[in-house]
Amino acid sequence: MAKPLFHDGLTVHTQSHDYPIVITEKTATENNSMAKQVAPYISGRQVLIVTNDTVAALYLNALTEELAEQFTVKVCVLPDGEQYKNQTSINQIYDALMAAHFNRDVTLIALGGGVVGDMTGFAAASFMRGVSFIQIPTTLLSQVDSSVGGKTGINHAQGKNMIGAFWQPQMVLADMSTLKTLPARELSAGLAEVIKYALIMDEAFLTWLENNLPAMMALDLAILGDAVKRCCQYKADIVAQDERESGVRALLNFGHTFGHVIETHQGYGNWLHGEAVAAGMVQAAELSQKMGWLTAEEVARVKRVLTLANLPITPPSIEVQTALDLMGHDKKVKHGQIRLILLKSLGKAVLTNDFDAKLLTDVLSPPRA
Ligand code: NAD
Ligand code: MG
Repeated sequence: MAKPLFHDGLTVHTQSHDYPIVITEKTATENNSMAKQVAPYISGRQVLIVTNDTVAALYLNALTEELAEQFTVKVCVLPDGEQYKNQTSINQIYDALMAAHFNRDVTLIALGGGVVGDMTGFAAASFMRGVSFIQIPTTLLSQVDSSVGGKTGINHAQGKNMIGAFWQPQMVLADMSTLKTLPARELSAGLAEVIKYALIMDEAFLTWLENNLPAMMALDLAILGDAVKRCCQYKADIVAQDERESGVRALLNFGHTFGHVIETHQGYGNWLHGEAVAAGMVQAAELSQKMGWLTAEEVARVKRVLTLANLPITPPSIEVQTALDLMGHDKKVKHGQIRLILLKSLGKAVLTNDFDAKLLTDVLSPPRA
């Protein structure tokens, strides 16, 4: 089958190969189903769809039945949750592949959010030293972030995403209509990463978001599609420059070092990642203000745009020393020095360790009643 022309997407350039991100809000229609979109990117006859029980109940049957007309299709349904992003789940994927007698010609399809995408990608990277995979991200976060860039992996009991590989998919299909079933809190968490791109890359996109966030919150799929496309373009550009995160890719961690403190302190799952990043971006903006780079009005603007997306802007109360200790364990620390991504202006981020420790302490100090 000929590969379709993509009016609704973009191309990611990587060292291994180039691949498309197709962004559509139309796959619900018969002629444009998920299966029809991904089929041209499946090279052999063998397909393993990996998903979780929540997403399976919503989208698995239609995809499986339609693909089965052309391919030998097996499914692996994992339990839902970050706590299952581990070696046990990877083994279940390998077991499904072995039971089906699939070989190097297999294509894995990740149907789900970032957890399913990261695990499926890692299984694809390691099964028979590497087989093809396709991403169908079904959360906003996975559409704008985790499905782009080729980072795959699982958690270790001692740390998040500690085991993994860089492995690029054959294509990414972001079907906006899947966002209709996503819990509102998960949509907001994804919007935190969308807002992040604006704050680090593009002030004009920030203005666009200020105007369009209400429509996105109301699930206007065309507007959401526009936003996803822009975010994927930003991330694809950064990944093309720095696939292995030795430089500019680190800017994507804006708000994440502060957010990591909140996530770890509160226990994973109590604050969603995007919620912690939102409050963390406010702290990073406040430190940028103390550096003399942002005005008070600009920090207020950051808070307003996050509030439009129903995101928290105040971190929970955490003792300064506890916060500093947690920061010290973040992966972004190099040679014992905390490096932070701060804003030189709205739309322009820098990675720096050149800040006064006292200013960081001030930002981390819990508000006193
Ligand atoms: P997730 O995969 O846990 O999905 C969130 C919840 O939404 C889950 O309960 C899921 O079952 C459910 N869900 C998914 N799609 C749905 C839909 N369409 N309708 C209803 N429910 C749906 O979480 P996430 O936020 O998508 O991803 C977080 C993961 O992504 C983390 O493990 C994180 O480490 C990883 N991540 C990876 C990268 C990367 O570059 N590889 C980047 C960012 C995040
Ligand atoms: Mg993130």
